[in-house]
Amino acid sequence: MVATGPSSSNRTNSAIASLSHGRPIFPDPAAIPRPFAERRASPLPLPCRCNKMLQSTAVSDGTSGDVIGVLRARGLRMTPQRRAIVAEIMRTRGHISPTALARKVQGEMPGVNASTVYRTLSLLEEVGVLSHAHLEGGAEYHRAEEAGHVHLTCSNCGAEDDLSLEEAEALSDLIERHREFLPDLTHFAISGLCAECRRLAG
Ligand SMILES: [Zn+2]
Ligand SMILES: [Zn+2]
Ligand SMILES: [Zn+2]
Repeated sequence: MVATGPSSSNRTNSAIASLSHGRPIFPDPAAIPRPFAERRASPLPLPCRCNKMLQSTAVSDGTSGDVIGVLRARGLRMTPQRRAIVAEIMRTRGHISPTALARKVQGEMPGVNASTVYRTLSLLEEVGVLSHAHLEGGAEYHRAEEAGHVHLTCSNCGAEDDLSLEEAEALSDLIERHREFLPDLTHFAISGLCAECRRLAG
C-alpha cells in the first residue's frame, strides 16, 4: 500500500494522493481521492484462496484434452459448455478476467451461463491449471505456468507492466527479513503511477 497522507512531502506520493482511484482526474486538481474501503467495495469475482502458494501445478502445462481428463476424474460432467470454457482458457496467453472469458465463450456458444464459467475457473485453479492475481479491475486468471511475475498497475490510467521474480527478489528478501514473513508478490498487483502519468502529474 502506497502512503497517501496529505503531509507527505514525497512528490510521487502526493501525486498519487491527488488521483481518484482508477480514473483520470486531469485537469481537475480538486478531485478528492476515494477512501481505501470504497475502492475495495466492489466484490471480487471469486473468493481469494489463501492457500494459493500451496497449490499443485502438476497439470499446469497440460493440453485442453489433459485438463478435461483431470476435471472428469474429479467427477465433473464435461458438458459442451465446460469443454468450450476449457478450450478458450487454454488458448489464452497472459491474463483474462472471468467476465472477459465469459464474453468470449458466449460469443462462440451462446447460452453459456456466467456462473458455469466462474465455477469452472475455480475448479481449474483448484487442480493447479490456473492461478489468479488481483489487478486494478479485480481478479484475473493466468495459466499457472505463466503466473510467476509481479504485476505493476497504474492506478490512474490502468497501464500494466510486469516485474520478473528475479527483479523482485531484493524486495522479497527485504520483506522476509521483517519477522520472517514470506511474501507472495504474484498474488496482488503493486499499484502506483506509470512513468507517463507521473510526467503528466508534474
Ligand atoms: Zn486472491
Ligand atoms: Zn500477469
Ligand atoms: Zn498511468
